[in-house]
Parts: sequence; C-alpha cells; structure tokens
Amino acid sequence: MDDISKVRQYASVLMKERRKLEDRILRTKPHMEGSLIERYTRCGKPGCRCGKGQPHGPFWYLSRCVEGKTRYTYIPKDMAKEVKVLVDRNARIRKDRARIREIGRKLDSLFDQIVQSQLIDPTKKDNDPGGDKGD
Ligand SMILES: [Zn+2]
Repeated sequence: MDDISKVRQYASVLMKERRKLEDRILRTKPHMEGSLIERYTRCGKPGCRCGKGQPHGPFWYLSRCVEGKTRYTYIPKDMAKEVKVLVDRNARIRKDRARIREIGRKLDSLFDQIVQSQLIDPTKKDNDPGGDKGD
C-alpha cells in the first residue's frame, strides 16, 4: 500500500467521524452554558452543627462567564439534576464542535496531499498520460 492510500484511508476515517459528530449537532437538544457547582456554608450561629464540621448544603449554583465575569445563579435543589443534564449537554456540544473544526483542518491538509499526488506537471516529459487513474 503506498503512502497516498494511507492518506486516503485516514481521510475516510475522519470523514466518517465528522459525519457522526455533525449528525449529533443536527439533533441538538436544549442545553445550558456554564457549570453546576455545589457549595456548603456555615451560618455562624452558636451551637449549630455547621460549626462542628457539618456545614449546610449542598447548595447548587450555575457558574457562568458573562462579559468576562463569573456569575453565579442559585439553582433550587429539585432542579439541580435537570440543570446538570443541560450543562453536560452544552459541554458535549462544544467538544463536538471543536473536534469537527479540528477534523476539518486535518482533512484540508490530507486533501492537499491527495490532490497534489495526482497533479500532472505539463513540463515533465516522463508524464504517463494513462498513469495512476485509480478510479
Ligand atoms: Zn449552621
């Protein structure tokens, strides 16, 4: 197998992977930016359990970057699970899209190699016009 066959094979694998990711993007469900964090607090009241190493909580907050600043939004306990699903989904979407862009850059370079490998130089006398058609 020559090098260009390996390049073709690799390109084909990347195209399949990208297609899978793109299909997932097409089916994007509701999502939410940020990350869910849990916090524990001490109320400071004398005699409270929080003063003896048992802090209150967890309390859930959505942490987001808004205009360069970190913002916290309180999330009621009964919504924490749902918000977690939404923020996880958002993280997945970002990851998928980053990978799609990465694959795009790699494919561009592989396509360059593939196309270049079949380019006929008209100034060369030893061109075989019937050469590597391959298709
Ligand atoms: Zn307390």
